[in-house]
Amino acid sequence: MKIQAQVSMVFHLDKCIGCHTCSVACKNIWTDRKGAEYMWWNNVETKPGTGYPVQWEDQDKYKGGWQKKPDNGSLDLKMNGRLGMLGNIFFNPNLPTLDDYYEPWTYEYDNLTHAPAGDDQPTARPVSMITGQPLEIKRGPNWDDDLSGSQVYAANDPNLDDMSDDERQMMFEIERLVFFYLPRICNHCLNAGCAAACPSGAIYKRGEDGIVLVNQDQCRGWRMCVTACPYKKVYYNWSTGKSEKCILCYPRLETGQAPACFHSCVGRIRYLGVLLYDADRIDETVAAEDADLVEAQRAIIMDPHDPAVIASAKANGVPQAMIDAAQKSPVYRFVKEWKLALPLHPEFRTLPMLFYVPPMLPIQALVNDGHIEVTQGNEGTLDYFGTLEQARLPLRYMARLFSAGNEDEVAAVYRKLIAVRIYRRANNASGELNEDTRPALDAAGITAEEAQAIFELTAKPTFDERFVVPPLAREENIEPLIDPFTHKTEAGFGFRRDAKRGQ
Ligand code: SF4
Ligand code: SF4
Repeated sequence: MKIQAQVSMVFHLDKCIGCHTCSVACKNIWTDRKGAEYMWWNNVETKPGTGYPVQWEDQDKYKGGWQKKPDNGSLDLKMNGRLGMLGNIFFNPNLPTLDDYYEPWTYEYDNLTHAPAGDDQPTARPVSMITGQPLEIKRGPNWDDDLSGSQVYAANDPNLDDMSDDERQMMFEIERLVFFYLPRICNHCLNAGCAAACPSGAIYKRGEDGIVLVNQDQCRGWRMCVTACPYKKVYYNWSTGKSEKCILCYPRLETGQAPACFHSCVGRIRYLGVLLYDADRIDETVAAEDADLVEAQRAIIMDPHDPAVIASAKANGVPQAMIDAAQKSPVYRFVKEWKLALPLHPEFRTLPMLFYVPPMLPIQALVNDGHIEVTQGNEGTLDYFGTLEQARLPLRYMARLFSAGNEDEVAAVYRKLIAVRIYRRANNASGELNEDTRPALDAAGITAEEAQAIFELTAKPTFDERFVVPPLAREENIEPLIDPFTHKTEAGFGFRRDAKRGQ
C-alpha cells in the first residue's frame, strides 16, 4: 500500500443553474491574455449537447484517453502509443481546430460613441480578435446553451448513440425538452493522458496534492497533450507557443483559499477536499472492465480514519495536516461513503478526480383538464417522483456519461437521491418518518441518519464544510530541489518572464 494525497472535487449537478459565473471568474483571473482568448479552463455545457470544443466526447474523432491493447489488456494512449506518437510528432492529425472551439471576437464599441449623426441607431459589429475583420458568429463556448438549436446541435451529442429513435424523439419533443448543465474543469487525473503524452516532459502532477501543471519553461508546443486529454482541457496558446491548462488555482489553494470558480459558484454546487488513495493499485484499476471501472476507482480511495492507511500515508511523507483534512473531506463523503458522486466518462481511463452527483431527473407528468397528473410511483413508494425507468432523461444516457454504461451504478445513485427527497418531504410534512418513507430508504440502502446527513451537506453546508483546504506546504515539498527561501521570492501570480515561442 502506497498512500498518496489528492485534492479532489465534487460538483453537485442538481444545484447548477447554468449562470456561467464560474467561467467568468476563471476567465478574469487566468485566461484574459493574448493567445488565451478562446480558452475556457472552466466551461459550462448544456446536456444533451455537443459541448466545447464541439463533440469533445467523440474519441473516434479526437483519439483522446487510453485504450486497452487487444492482446494483453495493458493500456496504450488511444493516439497510438508513444511510438506512434513520435512518428506523428511534426504532424498531429487529431487536434481540434479553431472552428471546433470558436473564433474569439469582440465588438466595435467605438462605433457606438463615434458614429456620425444619422437616422439609424449605431451598432457594434462583431469583429474577430485574431484577424480584426468583421465576423459572422457561428459558434461559441456555450453555443447550444439551454438547448438552443437543439435539433442541429444537441441531436449530435455522441452520448445519444445508444438511444432508440423513440427515446431521442421523447427527449427533444417540443415542450418536453429536458436538459441539465455540466460544468467542466481539468479533472487532475491520477492516470493523466496529457502528462503521459508530452514528449518534452513538461506536464507533471505535483506529488503533495496531485494538481496537474504545465511547466511553461519546458513546454515546446508539441500539442500531444491536447490530443491525449479526452476532456480537451489542455489548450494551445498561439501567442506564446505553449500549452496551458487549469491550475486548480494553486496560488489560491497555497494561501488557504478555494479556487475562484468554486468560491464564486452561485449554485454552491462545488465541494473541494482531500482524498487518500493507494498509488500501488492504479495499474489494476485502469485495467478493470468498463462496467467495473467506477467501483474499481472507489476501491483505491482509502479510509482516512484507518490506522494502517494513516501509517502508510505518514511513511510516504503525507503531512498530518493533510490527513486531518482528508478526515473532514466532503468529497470523501460524497464519493466513497455515500457513493453518490461518479466520475465523468470513466471509460477514458484517466482516473479523473473530479466527481459529479447526477442531476435529479424531471418527473413525467401529463396535463389533464388543467391538472398535473404524475406517473405511478418509484418502486412502490411515493408517486410524486415518478419511476426511474420512465425518467425523461433515460438512465442509459446518464450511465453513458457517468458510469461507462453501467446502469446499475447510476440507478443506485438515483434511488438514494429520491430517498433523501422522500425522507425530507415526510420530515417537513409531519416531522417524523411515516409508512411511505421506510420503503424508499430501504430500496436505497440508507438509514434515516444518512439521508439527513446527505441533505445537510447538499442543501445547507457552510463555506468551511464545502471547502476543506489543507495547508499545501509547497516550500517543504520542494526543499530537496530548490532552496525554499529562493522559491518564496520567485513564486507568485503570473509570469515573471514572458513565455516565448521556442524558449
Ligand atoms: S483532464 Fe485532461 S488535462 Fe486534466 S489531468 Fe486529465 S488528462 Fe490531463
Ligand atoms: S457558477 Fe455554479 S451554478 Fe453557476 S454555472 Fe457555474 S457551477 Fe453552475
